[in-house]
Amino acid sequence: MPGGMAERTNARLLKSRGAPVPVGSNPTPSAVEPQPAITHERAMQLALDEAEAAVAHGDVPVGAVAVAAGRVVARAHNERELRRDPTAHAELLALRAAALALGSWRLGEVTLVVTLEPCTMCAGALVAARVGGLVFGAYDPRAGACGSLYNLCCDPRLNHELAVVGGVLEEQSAAILREFFAGRRP
Ligand SMILES: [Zn+2]
Repeated sequence: MPGGMAERTNARLLKSRGAPVPVGSNPTPSAVEPQPAITHERAMQLALDEAEAAVAHGDVPVGAVAVAAGRVVARAHNERELRRDPTAHAELLALRAAALALGSWRLGEVTLVVTLEPCTMCAGALVAARVGGLVFGAYDPRAGACGSLYNLCCDPRLNHELAVVGGVLEEQSAAILREFFAGRRP
């Protein structure tokens, strides 16, 4: 797992608010020479890696990463079973970690990338956090609140709307869920 990458990214993001500061062994301050931003597909691949990690503790494999300024600032996976917490969806855990990393509950600069279309709770949290954008993989016709059953992220009656892109690495995102539930059948 490239966990070290995320840590370096956090440090760079936090420090880039002031004078350019070299981080770790990287001799080139990113504020001077920015590296290419992470693509939706690459971020989704990292979210899929997170989803895989949920299986180890018996949780439904859903993973999320938070991207800000083209860098991953937080990553999480579903931990409902692990924490015995009905709210421990990947999206909520990633939002909390991103807020901590960025030092603000307002996450307008964040794009959340998640393997499954968010539910009503998570879509509500995206709106509450003023998240800038959402990218998701598989659609969820039974619980999805970002286009399938509801469209909470794009409702002008609410006080915030965000850009939504669905279906990124959709097949991989759906397959990991299919395999998980197939493996559970007796
Ligand atoms: Zn959710």
